[in-house]
Amino acid sequence: MTIIVTGGAGFIGSNFIFHMMDKHPDYRLVCLDALTYAGNLSTLKSVMDKPNFRFVKASIADREAVYQLFEEEHPDIVVNFAAESHVDRSIEDPEIFLQTNIIGTSVLMDACRKYGIQRYHQVSTDEVYGDLPLDRPDLFFTEETPIHTSSPYSSSKAGADLLVLAYHRTYGLPVTISRCSNNYGPYHFPEKLIPLMIANALNDKALPVYGTGENVRDWLYVEDHCKAIDLIIHKGTVGEVYNVGGHNEMTNLDIVKLICKELGKPESLIQFVADRKGHDMRYAIDPTKIHNDLGWLPETKFADGIKKTIQWYLEHKDWWEEIISGEYQNYYEKMYGNR
Ligand code: NAD
Repeated sequence: MTIIVTGGAGFIGSNFIFHMMDKHPDYRLVCLDALTYAGNLSTLKSVMDKPNFRFVKASIADREAVYQLFEEEHPDIVVNFAAESHVDRSIEDPEIFLQTNIIGTSVLMDACRKYGIQRYHQVSTDEVYGDLPLDRPDLFFTEETPIHTSSPYSSSKAGADLLVLAYHRTYGLPVTISRCSNNYGPYHFPEKLIPLMIANALNDKALPVYGTGENVRDWLYVEDHCKAIDLIIHKGTVGEVYNVGGHNEMTNLDIVKLICKELGKPESLIQFVADRKGHDMRYAIDPTKIHNDLGWLPETKFADGIKKTIQWYLEHKDWWEEIISGEYQNYYEKMYGNR
């Protein structure tokens, strides 16, 4: 079995590669990644020399490179993690989001049609459903919730999802889609809430929180997401969408306070900053379908997962310090000033 994992030098894709190497040591894994600012080859150093692993640097939107890879590898499965993934960056400059997330997805699926494939899996997000009001805790996103996006990022992911379903209906491509809530865990790029707060708190820097920090997110440990995708590509029904979430809703402010507590840092580091444009209020996934159909349940309790994550950032300072000392510094100052 050969699997092409796109975006495997990023956060979730790399964790998925580690999970698959461990659970399916007889599989061949080929990582296709453009190594954008969010991709980091050092993340993959533990698997780089394994005989059943190959890394290829190319964009999923580069038709020639993608077709060549399919000719060389004849993959059985493609799992597409590659994306521009940061909402704030999509607000600053949407175009690359359309190029990678929509055009890139269509190029990959064209390759799947041309060369034949057992399964194409699209890694999507709960953000395609838009948001829920804070005063309706009884509401959750199901797979039937209408697409109703807020940001250029979520719109590009929704566009890709619609294309994936269209390729299934029109060309019979064997596809599945997973829509997951917010992930956290090792190798998370430090522009995202949890690693940003851990890194800043460790450096005794200000902890910038959007608006009043009341926005609610549903957090899932990354390994649980990887296990869900592993199940879907092997046992999921072609043409279906599966919501993946941890039933673990927390406000952004509570997350930041918890990180302060775990690291023994004062809450006075928290600074409220101008809210994100179009900021979604609440995401909450109903994962009943994947539980009933495939037996998936999240295994990591948030209290344990956040401890493991903080410990990982403490033990891997070299990984994230290198990132925050480079080009990322310019982006940070543009977003949050010289805090
Ligand atoms: P990430 O930003 O950490 O990693 C993205 C990876 O894709 C990077 O390695 C980058 O180099 C690569 N990439 C970007 N453009 C590319 C291109 N044109 N061609 C090839 N590679 C390219 O993202 P992540 O957080 O790991 O998210 C992975 C996927 O999961 C994304 O599709 C995202 O929409 C989805 N998702 C993420 C979350 C989350 O909480 N992080 C939740 C739900 C869904």
